[in-house]
Amino acid sequence: MSLAYCQHCAAPMAPAMLGGRERPQCPACGFVLWRNPAPVGMALIEHEGKLVLIRRAAAPLAGYWAPPAGYVECGESVPEAVVREAEEECGLRIELDRLVGVHSQADVEVLIIAYAARSVGGTLRAGDDASEVRLFAAGDLPQQATPRDGTATDQWLHGVVETTLRHWQQTHA
Ligand SMILES: [Zn+2]
Repeated sequence: MSLAYCQHCAAPMAPAMLGGRERPQCPACGFVLWRNPAPVGMALIEHEGKLVLIRRAAAPLAGYWAPPAGYVECGESVPEAVVREAEEECGLRIELDRLVGVHSQADVEVLIIAYAARSVGGTLRAGDDASEVRLFAAGDLPQQATPRDGTATDQWLHGVVETTLRHWQQTHA
């Protein structure tokens, strides 16, 4: 989607002061482009007593181990999206136990809603945006360096993964 042209009448958008902030507005029809972070659901899945992590195949944070996660789509709730994404990325059917955290940052265009979950079926396999899938014991979680020349989103996601893995470790010690 181009941010330069109006989605309704295709006129060039221009910055306008609205509600104390500069926002893109169409001078022809008045359309305002309100930009909101996209929600992403994440699952900390316990399977055979261990934590399921996938190796991310694509940006952000490509090559890193992280819990399965994906965008929430219209037509599903956040928990439904988490269950769907988990099955797509690691092959397991899961049930959610509880919300463990909501993560956002001003310069990042997504927000992450993380749940503790456990497997109830399916077969472990890497799918979708995952190049590998593995089980990690609480005492053996991956140590991953901060991305050196990553984007703000890479740096932030690395921090979110660290926080969620630490949380899992503390609750499964
Ligand atoms: Zn317009």
